[in-house]
Amino acid sequence: MSDRRVRVRFAPSPTGPLHIGGVRTALYNYLFARKHGGDCLLRIEDTDQNRFVPGAEEYILEALTWAGIRFDEGPHNGGPHAPYRQSERKDMYRQYAMQLIEAGHAYYAFDTTEELDAMRERLKAGSTPAQYDAVSRGSMRNSLTLSADEVEKKLSAGEPYVIRIKLPRKEEVRFHDAIRGWVVVNSSQMDDKVLFKSDGMPTYHLANVVDDYLMDISHVIRGEEWLPSAPLHVMLYRYLGWEDRMPVFAHLPLLLKPEGNGKLSKRDGDRLGFPVFPLQWTDPASGEVSSGYRETGYDPHAVVNMLALLGWHPSFNRELFTMDELIQEFSLEKVSKSGAKFDLQKALWFNHHYLMEKDPAQLAAELMPQLQEAGYQAEQDYLAKVVAMMREKVGFAKEIISQGKYFFQDPETFDSQVIAKKWKAGTEVFLNELAADYAALEVFSAEATEETFKTRCATRGETPGQWMQILRVAVSGAAAGPPVFEMLSLLGKETICRRLNHAASHITPITA
Ligand code: GLU
Repeated sequence: MSDRRVRVRFAPSPTGPLHIGGVRTALYNYLFARKHGGDCLLRIEDTDQNRFVPGAEEYILEALTWAGIRFDEGPHNGGPHAPYRQSERKDMYRQYAMQLIEAGHAYYAFDTTEELDAMRERLKAGSTPAQYDAVSRGSMRNSLTLSADEVEKKLSAGEPYVIRIKLPRKEEVRFHDAIRGWVVVNSSQMDDKVLFKSDGMPTYHLANVVDDYLMDISHVIRGEEWLPSAPLHVMLYRYLGWEDRMPVFAHLPLLLKPEGNGKLSKRDGDRLGFPVFPLQWTDPASGEVSSGYRETGYDPHAVVNMLALLGWHPSFNRELFTMDELIQEFSLEKVSKSGAKFDLQKALWFNHHYLMEKDPAQLAAELMPQLQEAGYQAEQDYLAKVVAMMREKVGFAKEIISQGKYFFQDPETFDSQVIAKKWKAGTEVFLNELAADYAALEVFSAEATEETFKTRCATRGETPGQWMQILRVAVSGAAAGPPVFEMLSLLGKETICRRLNHAASHITPITA
């Protein structure tokens, strides 16, 4: 790598919620910058006023902050190249379009929408590409076909115009992509893209290249969907005389549907039951709500770990990485060219891993608001013990509350399958006997409750296996859960005795 300071940017357009693929792009930029001791910028590309969606920029920042991705410069925290919102940089772009016109690399075009449509129709019938290019521009109304006087007249009359790049008719455009190697395109395949629009705003292409240059961006790491634009950007660097400051391009592979055919879309998420957005999003126009990883209950570390591996292949097939480890290991050389299939099972697996890794006390603190929201009260220490006991069994932390309700309130219903199968005449006698045994215990530990239970079974000439499920259901209402005697010990003597007596007098056998 050259000795140029690494400076990368994530440059989303605020046109809606950030797709999870966008989070991955931001992550790779962040990892790359940190790894090389460089800077990671956030730039909001909002030059297309028609596509602006209120709340999208705030969403993007909140989502990336949640994921632990930090920016050294951006609209929220400023920096030496402020402003970082293109709409606020509006006045900077025209001069570069003018510079291109003066150098003969761009031109004014006055064609109306109808004229452009007619041109495309005409060309579609023939064998040449239906595009505004070195061939077709000769028959259109632009500053290459009109006289200087006419152009002057139109401009001073305020006639609407756009500025287009003037590409050569047939020339190879090549650049080296850090992930894809050499990319070669012939300019005959490219059209004279609009750089500056009639509304006085630059297009994405001009604003993007100008800002990358002015912000001294060393590497452009972005999604594969931008690969077709890269040759045009290369031409802009050349025509603006900035070739020696042209960034290294790296186009990331697409995130594919789990089946592998095509780009992962919101519809796939709805169909297969996983979010495609980092945070929940409510569409301001339609009110439609899309689910998010955060609200579904994913740990941001799990999401980051999963996303890092969707397209990047570290040595030795290692899978678990903290953010710091990712920073250490990440390299563009190990990013693959081919698309990465989204894998829901893997996402769940990562989440469970991080759930098991976390300090129970911290998890308890995080769960406290949700516990209160569910209408329960508990001390944080107690909740931490519930967490430690329950997390093995659940996919998401919040399920500790929904599946472990009985840790916070007496059960109101009892698993009907277990009752149907195991409750016989006299079961209530057993439960009352056990409650009396337990009431006499001085130390209500897991060992003591187990010992007492076994003794009671033996006294009756029965096996513990005959009563185990009844015991669990009587105290928790649920057919499955954590090790039963640990659960009893945590719930405590008073609660357990109360629940056993209650079950004895309230449960009635279920007959088929
Ligand atoms: N504004 C573009 C986007 O929305 C940026 C593409 C790029 O990184 O050049 O993704």
